[in-house]
This record gives sequence, structure tokens and C-alpha cells, in this order.
Amino acid sequence: MKSDIQIAKESELKPIKEVALELGLEEDDLELYGKYKGKVADEALNKLEGKAQGKLVLVTAINPTPAGEGKTTTTVGLGDALKKQGEKVVIALREPSLGPCFGIKGGAAGGGYAQVVPMEDLNLHFTGDFHAITSANNLIAAMLDNHIQQGNELGIDPRQIVWKRCLDMNDRVLRNVVVGLGNKMDGVVREDHFVITVATEIMAILCLATDLNDLKEKIGRAIVAYNYKNEPVTVADIKATGAAAALLKDALKPNLIQTLEHTPAFVHGGPFANIAHGCNSIKATKAALKLGDIVITEAGFGADLGAEKFFDIKCPVAGLKPDAVVLVATIRALKYNGGVAKEDLNTENLEALAKGIVNLEKHIENLHKYNVPVVVTLNAFVSDTEKENEFVKKFCEEKGCRFALSEVWAKGGEGGLALADEVKAVLKEGNANFAPLYNAELPLEEKIKKVATEIYGAGDVQFEVAASKQLARLKSLGFDHLPVCMAKNQYSLSDDPTLLGRPRDFTLHIRELYVSAGAGFVVALTGTVMTMPGLPKVPAANNIDVNGVGEIVGLF
Ligand code: ADP
Ligand code: MG
Repeated sequence: MKSDIQIAKESELKPIKEVALELGLEEDDLELYGKYKGKVADEALNKLEGKAQGKLVLVTAINPTPAGEGKTTTTVGLGDALKKQGEKVVIALREPSLGPCFGIKGGAAGGGYAQVVPMEDLNLHFTGDFHAITSANNLIAAMLDNHIQQGNELGIDPRQIVWKRCLDMNDRVLRNVVVGLGNKMDGVVREDHFVITVATEIMAILCLATDLNDLKEKIGRAIVAYNYKNEPVTVADIKATGAAAALLKDALKPNLIQTLEHTPAFVHGGPFANIAHGCNSIKATKAALKLGDIVITEAGFGADLGAEKFFDIKCPVAGLKPDAVVLVATIRALKYNGGVAKEDLNTENLEALAKGIVNLEKHIENLHKYNVPVVVTLNAFVSDTEKENEFVKKFCEEKGCRFALSEVWAKGGEGGLALADEVKAVLKEGNANFAPLYNAELPLEEKIKKVATEIYGAGDVQFEVAASKQLARLKSLGFDHLPVCMAKNQYSLSDDPTLLGRPRDFTLHIRELYVSAGAGFVVALTGTVMTMPGLPKVPAANNIDVNGVGEIVGLF
């Protein structure tokens, strides 16, 4: 089997303006970044105002193994399959972060014969959005420290600075740093922290903003620190809103690329789902819905993280009503949830499968709570056996759930026709009646408890002392009505990554709470989830190279 990058390289791309033309966009509607990437201009999006919307299908997954279970691959392959069947389909994905790209997981352009291209560009610098987000975030940090240096008129308490610097890199040594060392002109000394760009509030804001004015409003509201009177100091207070928004002007425009089979794909924004809200931008999703009859989108990690936040944060904010969910399972992840070690996942093991399938069961039950019909798909790996596939199929049938085997990784759109049929059948039935899990007006602790008990299966929630204090403060500052963005490991439904399968009656620990007042949610950190990941012992970067003629190799 060829590698992802080999397949991508051998593919023949259409000029992106041709792909756009098929969508009904004209050449002037596209701002070209070379021949194969384009941003859709604001004027083009404004013209779509009032147009009927297509159907929205979310692709999510069971709890994954560290390698990823193929949500992006499935999203792309399903899109290609629907296109093969003559549907006007548009894909909406997130942009990859360099962290996982150089770390364990590799890129995020899909895989095998179900990829978006050009994959090297997408996985590396793409159209510069992450650079713009990093710069905007760090400009605010620089202006904050400069404000203190220049006399600190706002009375900012250097011990209560909450805005962190960022970098799109897994770099653990930057988690805790000291800035301002040197002499008087080198700034005020304080402890500082870096987070990965995809965990920043600016990333979340970019993804949740409806237009430039909304973007500015949200940036201005974001809290950077507290003053000596314990009152919030915002980006607007330090007069950084305009300059930060200026840096994001182009980043806010959705990027259009294509799949190997020339299906149009918006790839825009990329918050992680374990530490942020995990969905592509509202602007891109809305553009896709105006341009296509069916839109396939993906939310990060398992359904406990990405789908929950898609339903409880993004959909209510954007006024979206999803029509169907595709729940991706793999035999390897089911066996992993059944306790099999990573090295042994390629061997048939029906016993472990039967043990791990409770994870799929829980996710099906969870998704039904949102009143959206579910299609389970098994992303086929060459190591899967007939018996294993049969077992999962039968399980889904017994649960009254539609099921389709997906072979898009090996066969592209052709391998997704069965899944496309099931998805279309569900859309035709039109039984979706989407409602979020909670009403945002519930008190914060109730919202957290609801997600913990109903989605994760926790018996109880424990707020650590610091978190209880933060909760009281957030309430007094008037943030009780915001949705919660849970930060949790992706491997387990619980806050302990080693509790696989379907853990029950565990206690979920809330370690820290903080508000993203600009993005419009309260983040609840559980367990030991990291906002700046580290690289593994053997990072993927060891194998990435560029040859003498500028071809990238070793990216996957
Ligand atoms: P997710 O979006 O769920 O994180 P991806 O679609 O990015 O997962 O896939 C993760 C990795 O697994 C990619 O490198 C992809 O090539 C690989 N992959 C996905 N599906 C298959 C499959 N059916 N067989 C082999 N490898 C696969
Ligand atoms: Mg993905």
C-alpha cells in the first residue's frame, strides 16, 4: 500500500477555481493562494445571504487510539461517495496543527484514497491562518506586558495575568517560563506560560465569529488579566483589539481546497477538541451550507468531546440544526477499549471486541440524547477479519442503528457508497429534531454535572478547591449563563485516560475553571489535560524531510 503522501502526490488536482465554479462561485469570488488553494471573499459570502441551506451531517467517533480512528478519512470519503452519486456535497474540516503533525499522530488531511489535497501545504503552512492567529495572540501578550512596563495605569496584577503566549508546536519546555529577566528596560519579571495555538481563545474566537465586526467584539471582550481590585482587564482595555483584528482579516476567510476526487472542501480553523471546542469555523460551515445540498463536517476526537461541543457550543451559537450523525468505529479502537495493548491490535480478538463494544454503545446512547439520527460506520482496516466485522454489524442492528462498512481509505468514494446510501436514507426520513443537552441558562456547575453524568457516565463531580473559588468568581462576574467547554483527555469517557470501555460511577475532577469571555464559554479543565503538549520519544518529525527539488517526504 502506498503512503498517504505518495497517493496525494500522484493525484491530479483541478485548478481550485474550477472546483469553485462547479459550486457556483465565480473567479472573482476566490482569493487565490497559488493554483490549488483559495479563500472565499466576503462579498461572495454576502451574495449567498438568503439562499436555502443544505443538510448538515456531523462525523464523529468512539474513543480513539492514539493514531486516530479515521474521522477525517471518513468525512472525505463520504463526501466523495455522495459526489459520485450525483449529490451537490461540500466538506467542512479543521486545519491541522503542527503539534500532532510533528508529534505522534501525523497530519490531518485524511488518509489513503480519501484525502484532501494539496496535503503537504495543508499540513505545513497552508494559507497562513495559524501564523496570523499566533501573531494576534502574541501581540496581545506583548501589549499587556508593555502596559505594565509603561507604568501600569490599569493596575494590572502581574500575579493575575491569564493571557498566555502561544506557539503552534508541541514544546513542553515552554509550559512554565519566566519572562522579563534582565534590567529595568527589559520588562517586569513574572512567571508566564505558553499554550499551543489551537488551544488559544483567539483560535476559538476566529472559529465562532460570524463576521469581522463580531470578531472584533469578541476579541475586545476577552479577558487578559485581573487588576489589583480583582476586576477583569480586557483586550479592549489594553487597546489591542484593532491591531489583533487587523492581523486576522484574511485568516477569517474560509479556505477552499479539494479532495482527491475533486469534491470541494472548506478547511478552516482548527481548535483541538480535548482542550478547546474542536470544530471548524462557523463561517466555513455556513458557507458550505449555502453552497451545497449536503454538508459533511467533522468534530475532533471522540463524540464525548468533539460532538458534545459541536452540539452544545457551536450549533446554538451559529443557529445550526444538524440532520444526521455518522459515528465512526474501528475494530482496533474497540479492541483497545476492550483492554488490548497497542502492539496487539492487529490480531483477531473477538473476546476483546465484545468487551470494548460498550464504548460504542455509550456513544450511540449519548448521540440519541440530541435527537439526531445516528449511522454507525466501521472504518475498515486490512487487519480486520470477517468475524469481527460481522460482530459489530450485528451489534448495531440489535441496537436499531443503521450500519455501513466504509472502505474509503482503500477505495476512495467508491468504498463509501454503502455509507452514503445509509446517510441519504436517514436524511430522507428527516427525523432529526436537534436540541442541545442543556439550556445555557442553567448554573455553570449544573451544566458541568449534566455533561459529566449524562455524556461521560460519571457518578459524581468534584470541584477542587481552586476550581470552587474560580466558580464563585465567574458567577459574580456574570458568566453563569455561558456554555461550558470541557477540557478532558480523549482516550477515556472519564478524566482518567486508562479507564477504557464504558467506565461507570467514577468521580470527574474539575481542576480549574476559567472564562473565555470573548469566545463565549467557560473552560473546565479536568484531570491532567495539557494545554501545551510535548513531543514523544520518537517524534514524527524524525522522518519528515524535503528533497533537493523541494518535495516533502515522510509526512503522513
Ligand atoms: P481522525 O480524523 O479520526 O483523527 P484520520 O482520518 O486523520 O483520523 O486518520 C488517522 C490516521 O489513520 C491517518 O494517518 C490515516 O491515513 C490512517 N487511517 C485512517 N483510516 C485508515 C484505514 N482504514 N486503514 C489504514 N489507515 C487508516
Ligand atoms: Mg481528523
